[in-house]
Amino acid sequence: HAPSPFLAPSPKTQPNTLAIISLSKDNFQPITLQQSAGAVDGYAEGVTLNTRFGSFPHSTLLDIPWGSQVRASVVDTGSRGRKRRRGEVEDEETPTSNADDGNDTPGSAPAKKAIVAASGFVYVLRPTPELWTSSLPHRTQVVYTPDYSYVLQRIRARPGSRIIEAGAGSGSFTHASARAVYNGYPKSDTDVKGKVFSFEFHEPRFQKMQVEIKDHLLDGVVQVTHRDVCDGGFIVDGKSPKANAIFLDLPAPWEALHHLSRRKTLKEGKLDENPGDWVSPLDLDQSVYICTFSPCIEQVTRTVTELRTLGWTDIDMVEIAHRRLNIMRDRAGASTAPTDVTEAVKKLKVDLKRTQEFHKAQISQPVSDASESKMDVDEIASTWTDKESGKNGDPSWIQGNVVHRTENDVKTHTSYLVFAILPREWDDAAEEAAMVKWPC
Ligand code: SAM
Repeated sequence: HAPSPFLAPSPKTQPNTLAIISLSKDNFQPITLQQSAGAVDGYAEGVTLNTRFGSFPHSTLLDIPWGSQVRASVVDTGSRGRKRRRGEVEDEETPTSNADDGNDTPGSAPAKKAIVAASGFVYVLRPTPELWTSSLPHRTQVVYTPDYSYVLQRIRARPGSRIIEAGAGSGSFTHASARAVYNGYPKSDTDVKGKVFSFEFHEPRFQKMQVEIKDHLLDGVVQVTHRDVCDGGFIVDGKSPKANAIFLDLPAPWEALHHLSRRKTLKEGKLDENPGDWVSPLDLDQSVYICTFSPCIEQVTRTVTELRTLGWTDIDMVEIAHRRLNIMRDRAGASTAPTDVTEAVKKLKVDLKRTQEFHKAQISQPVSDASESKMDVDEIASTWTDKESGKNGDPSWIQGNVVHRTENDVKTHTSYLVFAILPREWDDAAEEAAMVKWPC
């Protein structure tokens, strides 16, 4: 089994692997890199990624270090290019420049159409759960990074953990938990490794998850089961997942809780007197940590009542109020407001000229990887001669003052997180075994 790019990334981009293309700060596109010998889809350069920042033949994205900056192709290739020149392509977006897109905010308008068609660039990023969450095809509401990073540490997810997750939804939490528990691929059926047991009752979503997990080489670490967990519980292929961590993102988590016990329990906490050959899905030798994720307080109340009835302890609820701070450079001198319109226009012209010079210098840099694309700001500034402002060679004009503001558009409420612990059961036999293992 080749290692998943999410778990053990190669140093350079490779064919047939997932890459996350960063078009701007908050705009990511997942693609599978492909090697093609010859023209594909009218493009002489083979499989090509078309964006509003230009066209990127996959051949220019392959075999380069992750994080590299890649310029749009200057070659207007293939039949589409010829058609565009003849004016026959009407609905296609003209490639534009993203050189002035550095402070792009979510939902901002596309960049202006550029005079130089192929001046755009992208970054090729290696897949991580965080980038996948930002770019995955949404089939449901998803759990975002601020929530899942907190959840995973509270449920003690670590290499070797066995996590039950329901429902799988769009797989955002699944990818993050797979990375948290990974401690190698199991070599046989008896080789117990960290694993995520994911459940989804919606057939098309289950199918999509199956395909994604296989494409991302996460099979072996993630096992997706098609089931209504409230009815069917959490046993997989007749065996216990031996879970020590649980995450429920379901509309009615309290309906599934009675399956997550050490003894066969009926709803409302009543022990079943006739367990038969019932098997617990939990690890019997460790405490088990749970988190349920619910948007409404009424759901929380029902979950907490059921948790208490079933013997869970240390129950508490948390809401993550995430704030993103946008740190950026403000133009030096921007605080001195112009006194009249003529002065304001003059200032704007000076600003525009500097920005254009800055981007021209940036674009003329040879770029093959991320480190080479770093420009020497002082060097560029020293070549300037700006009579209007008398600020010749002042690099702070490019860099500006560091300022920050809170981005108001970040949602403040996602869901309430209910945490609890089911302590391991302790009896005389367990005490005796512990005394042998760890004598006082
Ligand atoms: N945590 C997921 C993520 O990060 O992408 C999103 C989960 S989505 C909000 C809830 C999912 O639970 C839906 O896909 C739904 O079909 C599934 N679901 C709801 N009730 C279920 C049940 N009883 N058994 C299994 N899946 C269920």
